[in-house]
Amino acid sequence: MISDKMKNLVANSSTIRAMFEEGKRLAAIHGEENVFDFSLGNPNVVPPDSVKEAILEIVNEENPNVLHGYMNNSGYEDVRNTIATFLNEKHQLDLNANNIVMTCGAAGGLNIILKTILNPEDEVIVFAPFFGEYRNYVSNFDGKIVVVPPDTTTFQPNMEALKAALTSRTKAVIINSPNNPTGVIYSDSTLKQLASILEEAQGTFGTSIYLISDEPYREIAYDNATVPYALHYYNNTFIGYSYSKSLSLPGERIGYIVVPNEMADFDDVMSALNVANRILGFVNAPSLFQKVIGKCIESEVDVCIYERNRDLLYNHLTSIGFECIKPEGAFYLFPKTLIEDDKAFCETAKQFNLLLVPGSAFGCPGYTRLAYCISYEQIERSLPAFTKLAEYYKN
Ligand code: PLP
Repeated sequence: MISDKMKNLVANSSTIRAMFEEGKRLAAIHGEENVFDFSLGNPNVVPPDSVKEAILEIVNEENPNVLHGYMNNSGYEDVRNTIATFLNEKHQLDLNANNIVMTCGAAGGLNIILKTILNPEDEVIVFAPFFGEYRNYVSNFDGKIVVVPPDTTTFQPNMEALKAALTSRTKAVIINSPNNPTGVIYSDSTLKQLASILEEAQGTFGTSIYLISDEPYREIAYDNATVPYALHYYNNTFIGYSYSKSLSLPGERIGYIVVPNEMADFDDVMSALNVANRILGFVNAPSLFQKVIGKCIESEVDVCIYERNRDLLYNHLTSIGFECIKPEGAFYLFPKTLIEDDKAFCETAKQFNLLLVPGSAFGCPGYTRLAYCISYEQIERSLPAFTKLAEYYKN
């Protein structure tokens, strides 16, 4: 028998599986080009050529026993140095290899951070709407997730509600900017307020409260928007970074964590992250792709492709009566559903071959998430379906 905990997790995962199956079923009936799957955040922009070139070069040039061998659980020192130098230049920091742990993507990074800091019943605050997997990652280590309700006028974190949510058991606060699912970038003012509230709470409770900045979409920002770097605001900050979206490499499982020297108990935290990487079974981040990152540190995907998709979909949806904040980054749109019941709305959308995710999956009912990391042509073909869906609710 599987464990009781897993029974619940499997039951909760069935929505995504059902969506996937529904997509296949609809495609078999209507043809793939007539089914509009906005449900998955799987990047459609190709990785830069430099990635393929780096793979070939590394495989041809490296000693295979080194390339495919075990290493320090933190990852290759030269690669961590390259990342530290890159971040120092980009964000005016003073990092070195000892501040970086290579991880199996953002998900691997978040899990080793939470393993490192959580005792059972410790509380982790998240801001709705939030990436639903946070709930599972926190539950992996018997922590308690505390959801701060959204400010739906801006989708910036709700500061008054944050103050009310902080307790002596608060161990961490997770933020994600540019945000999945809203596409909002948390502003300089947001980060300043957040840092000051957390500093005050640390003083009041005499505890360390860690800020975990989950940043897989950092590079996907539009209209020359800047994405403030959380390390500049608050010492007890972990940066969790991933190349899943920034280089379109989600299957390769590669990313890193940054831990600043100023963090409370820095040495213990770094040792614990290494052990967590090992004992959670990641052991270390994939060796070949660490080396690829070392060579492709300056590479980027073409973000203009997502920006074009955003403009097309946002302009159409708002022109037919959807209320929606214009995303500043990531590749998601988060419009208000045309009826209160977001799950019923997404069910109805299927009648028009539109696969959308209910906002409830992100702790924000009454909204729906559309992942526009699909081809421009497919979005163009989907527009009449959205028009029909809107008309359906007008009648
Ligand atoms: N965090 C957020 C907000 C995400 O949207 C995702 C993936 O979609 C992840 C973390 C996990 O990313 P990775 O593939 O790097 O593990």
